Amino acid sequence: MPGRLGVRERGTRSAMAERVQVTLDVQGMTCDGCAAHVEQALRGVAGVEEAKVPGWRAGRGTVTAGVQVGNDALVGVVEAAGYRGQVRERRALREGQRFLARGDTYDLMIVGSGSAAFAAAIKAAELGATVGLVEADTIGGTCVNIGCVPSKTLIKAAELCYRAAYPRFEGLTACPPPSDWQRVVQQKDELVAALRQGKYVDVIKVYPSISLLRGRARLTGPRSLSVDGVSYAPGKILIATGSRPWAPPIPGLAEAGFLDSTDAVSLPSLPSSLLAIGAGAIGLELGQLFARFGVRVMILEAGPYVAGGEEPEVGRALTESLGQEKIRICTNVRIERVEKPDAEYAVHAIIDGKPEVCRGEQLLVATGRRPNTADLGLAAAGVAVGPRGDVTVNEHLQTTSPEIYAAGDCIGEPMYVYVAAYAGGLAAENALTGAGRVYDLSALPHVVFTDPQVASVGLSERAARAAGKAVQTAVLPLEHVPRALVARDTRGLFKMVAEAETGKILGVHVIAADAGEVIQAATLAVKFGLRIQDLVETFHPYLTMAEGLKLTALTFDRDVSRLSCCAT
Ligand SMILES: Cc1cc2nc3c(=O)[nH]c(=O)nc-3n(C[C@H](O)[C@H](O)[C@H](O)COP(=O)(O)OP(=O)(O)OC[C@H]3O[C@@H](n4cnc5c(N)ncnc54)[C@H](O)[C@@H]3O)c2cc1C
Repeated sequence: MPGRLGVRERGTRSAMAERVQVTLDVQGMTCDGCAAHVEQALRGVAGVEEAKVPGWRAGRGTVTAGVQVGNDALVGVVEAAGYRGQVRERRALREGQRFLARGDTYDLMIVGSGSAAFAAAIKAAELGATVGLVEADTIGGTCVNIGCVPSKTLIKAAELCYRAAYPRFEGLTACPPPSDWQRVVQQKDELVAALRQGKYVDVIKVYPSISLLRGRARLTGPRSLSVDGVSYAPGKILIATGSRPWAPPIPGLAEAGFLDSTDAVSLPSLPSSLLAIGAGAIGLELGQLFARFGVRVMILEAGPYVAGGEEPEVGRALTESLGQEKIRICTNVRIERVEKPDAEYAVHAIIDGKPEVCRGEQLLVATGRRPNTADLGLAAAGVAVGPRGDVTVNEHLQTTSPEIYAAGDCIGEPMYVYVAAYAGGLAAENALTGAGRVYDLSALPHVVFTDPQVASVGLSERAARAAGKAVQTAVLPLEHVPRALVARDTRGLFKMVAEAETGKILGVHVIAADAGEVIQAATLAVKFGLRIQDLVETFHPYLTMAEGLKLTALTFDRDVSRLSCCAT
C-alpha cells in the first residue's frame, strides 16, 4: 500500500548491501542449553556480528553478518554442533541499518495480544529482541475469542443442522426445528479455550524473550508508555489494539440496547426472531447462522446490495440464496428510529419508499468496526489518527511518531486476521531493524462465510473501469460447473475480470460452496499476472469447484454449454 502517509523512509534504498540477515531453521534442540550452544556456534563464524536463537522450542535462529559469510558456513557450524540446520531466508541489510533498537527493559513493547501482536512478538524474538506484550483483556484478542473461530464453528454447526433437516434445497417451506443451541455454544467455548491455549498462551512459553504483561497500556510520550501506572521506555513501540463493533447514531438505538457480534456468538438462548442491521460479512454470516437454527431472520441494509463491496451479480445471487432459506433481506433501507416498547424491538424504517415497522425479539447491529484507539494517549506520543480513529501509518507501518509503529485492525480496513498477522511481523521487523519492508496488500483475497460462500480477489469490474482500464468480463453460472451439478447445488456463479488487450486477469469473484478454497488458485493468478489463456492451458481436475476457474476463462470466447466433459 504505497504512501499511506507519504513519509519517506530514512536511509537510502539503493545503497549497496554489505551485511545480510540470515534466518535459519534449526532442528534437534531439546533444551535451552541447546539453544545457547547453537547461538554460540553461530557467533563463532568469522564475519558474524550478532546471532540469536530465541529458545529451543522456537527451532529458529537469526544471524547478522557480513555479506561474505555464506549460508554453507552457518549451516556447517549448526551441524557440527550436532543439530540440523537449513537457511530459511537471506535478506540484504541496507547501509546503516542497525540490528536492533534496544530499550530499558524491552526492545519492543506491543500494546495488545491479538494476531498482529503475536506475529510481531515472534518476529521480534527471532530477531533477538526482548518483547513486552501488554494485554488489558483476554489473551489472543478478537479472532480466537470472539471473531473468526467462534463464528465459523457456529456456522459449521448450523450448516450441519440445516443439511440434516434439508438434504436438498428445493421446496423449502419452513424453517428447520431449533437444535440444542446451549450445547453448540458450549462446544464452541471448548474449542475457543483449546485454541487460545495452544495458539497463544503456550506459544509465549516457546519464546523466553517474550513476556506477557497484564494491564491497560497508555502511551506517555514518543518512546514511553505506562501499564496500569508502571512506566516503561522500550526501544520501539507497536500499537496492535484491534477494533471493536461500531453502531450508527440511530435515534433510540442506544436506549433500546442491542446485540453486537460478540454478544451474538454467546447468546444464552435462541430468540424466535432476529432483526439484523447491516448486510456486510458479519451481518450476513450471523443472520444465516441464526436462520439455520430456526430463528426468523430479517436483514436491513442501507446500501443497494448485500455484501456491498462485492460484484452486483454476486450480491444478487447471495440475496436469492438467502431468500430460499426464508431470510428476508431488504436493501436501500433507511432506519428512522428504534424502540423496544415490550418484549420485542420495533425498528421504524423506510423500505422501498414505504414506512414499515419491523419487529423482532432480538436486534443485531453489524454495521462495521472501529479501531481501539481512544484513551491510548496517542496525542501525547505524537501519533496521528484518521477520521475513524485509525492510526495513520506510512508504507512501512510507521506512525507519525518515528519510534512507534502500528499493525492490525487499529490501522483500519481491511480488517482480516491474516492481514493483521502479516502486518504485525512486518512492522516489528521494520521497527527493530529498519528493514524498510513495504506493506503490500495487492492480490488480497477475502471470504464471506455464508453458504454459498462468497470469495473474491483483485479488482471488481467497477473498480477496474474506475481505474481507467479497458476490461473484458466473463460470468459463468454454476449450472455449467460439473462439481455443482453432482452436488445438486448450483447456487452461485464465477465472474472474471481481465484486461481487454492482454487478457491479464485483474480480478476473480466467486459465489459457490467452498468458494473460499477456490479463491486461492485465483489469488495466484492475480498475484503473478496470469492471463486468461494461462488458465485455459492449465489442468484443473474434473469435478472440482476450482474447475469453474478454467470454465470461466473459456467463457471469454466460447459457449461452455456446448463443450464436452473436462472442458476440452
Ligand atoms: C465476528 C467476527 C468474525 C470474524 N471472522 C473473520 C474471519 O473469518 N477471517 C478473518 O480473516 N478475519 C475475521 N475477523 C476479523 C479478525 O478477527 C480481526 O481482523 C483480527 O482478529 C484483528 O487482530 P488484531 O491483532 O488487529 O486485533 P485484536 O485481535 O482485536 O487484538 C487487540 C488486543 O488489544 C487489546 N487492547 C486494546 N487496547 C489495549 C490497551 N490500551 N492496553 C492493553 N491491551 C489493549 C485488546 O484487549 C485485544 O485483545 C472477524 C471478526 C469478527 C468480529
